[in-house]
Amino acid sequence: MFQKILIANRGEIALRVLRACKELGIQTVVVHSTADADAMHVRLADESVCIGPPPSRDSYLNIHQIVAACEITGADAVHPGYGFLSENAKFADILAAHNITFIGPSGDHIRIMGDKIEAKRTAKRLGIPVVPGSDGAVTEEKEAKRIAAEIGYPVIIKASAGGGGRGMKVAHTEADLEIALQTARSEAGAAFGDDAVYIEKYLEKPRHIEVQVFGDGFGGGVHFGERDCSLQRRHQKVWEEANSPALNAEERSRIGGICAKAIADLGYSGAGTIEFLYENGEFYFIEMNTRLQVEHPVTEAITGIDLVHEQIRVASGGGLSVKQEDIKFNGHAIECRINAEDPRTFTPSPGTITHFHTPGGLGIRVDSGVYSGYKIPPYYDSLIGKLIVHGRNRVECMMRLRRALDEFVVDGIKTTLPLFRDLVGNADIANGDYDIHWLEKYLAKGE
Ligand code: ADP
Repeated sequence: MFQKILIANRGEIALRVLRACKELGIQTVVVHSTADADAMHVRLADESVCIGPPPSRDSYLNIHQIVAACEITGADAVHPGYGFLSENAKFADILAAHNITFIGPSGDHIRIMGDKIEAKRTAKRLGIPVVPGSDGAVTEEKEAKRIAAEIGYPVIIKASAGGGGRGMKVAHTEADLEIALQTARSEAGAAFGDDAVYIEKYLEKPRHIEVQVFGDGFGGGVHFGERDCSLQRRHQKVWEEANSPALNAEERSRIGGICAKAIADLGYSGAGTIEFLYENGEFYFIEMNTRLQVEHPVTEAITGIDLVHEQIRVASGGGLSVKQEDIKFNGHAIECRINAEDPRTFTPSPGTITHFHTPGGLGIRVDSGVYSGYKIPPYYDSLIGKLIVHGRNRVECMMRLRRALDEFVVDGIKTTLPLFRDLVGNADIANGDYDIHWLEKYLAKGE
């Protein structure tokens, strides 16, 4: 087991990882920018190292500074959290070259999954169902038209190097396609330094369902069921659930089994998420994330298993603490992402939190790094906390969520809490009857 883990992240996830390390009796080091000197995880860590000024590229993305912090403090492993360097293959390689363990998969696996064309090819080879579309990158307009005609309109053009919902264009007709191809390529080139794009069938009313997988580091793979993250705004997840209200037990174990086997065949190590669009009973792979996800707590709530503990165990060579047959799904969980944003326009609302009171009681978990008097710096993403609620079934979970949302107080800034208070009372949401476009339509109606 590791002696000392360096946490290369900030906010709620840094605190989340820190808690797991403490439970396992592992010393902690956090790195932080000058803007985060007052952050909760910095206060709670055994050691902290300031690695630079506020902009992420000079601090949380500065590989040399982070490696230097490992050497100075004698950390033997790094947990990257999500975002920042968590899916940076070069970072994983550099750490390996310094004999520091990256708590995550190998650089090569990160590389494959970071390139969406390569990822899709790999998924197909491993027997994972994919969205119909081009086999690889498409450059010629003629070829694009041929593929689109074959799979049928509408189609979506996606950047191979894309991420965070950026670099996607939908074309409903052949005339749209020419413009979409050009804009997607120039946008991808400008945003990611790689203008490779590919074409997929655009699914009209899918749900976003993702499977939590784990490679044990010895060639074995398991799944921890799925999460439904269909409630999205601008392709960003807002509300997540486990299990999906749309799947039955047979579908769950079928897709889970396919994913677990694929992970084993790939020789993958650590946590990963295989993301699908789901429509008319069919799953279509869209991408794999090679890290812990923001929404991992809903899986923890229904399985009772600490996924960060498992990540640390696997990275240290100790394997998983559970086998597939030990992973049972108990009840239902929902996570609301609380952002420092206007609940209607979603404009960021940084500033000082004058009062912060979190709900409690059975089945309630709040993961947050903020506190009363905390000043939210304007440099980073606006997630200030996550409310995760568990119940014996979805109805109980929703009842508890409504109550918890009423108790939650965040004064001094705007947050997305009012949006969740509206959603929890909506009939479609109560029925679990929504697809990936539902939230955008709801917001556009301004109800
Ligand atoms: P990113 O890495 O940028 O998040 P993804 O490939 O995961 O990109 O897609 C993000 C979101 O875009 C999906 O959750 C879905 O809402 C939408 N999307 C992606 N591919 C398709 C598709 N083929 N049809 C319809 N919607 C899609």
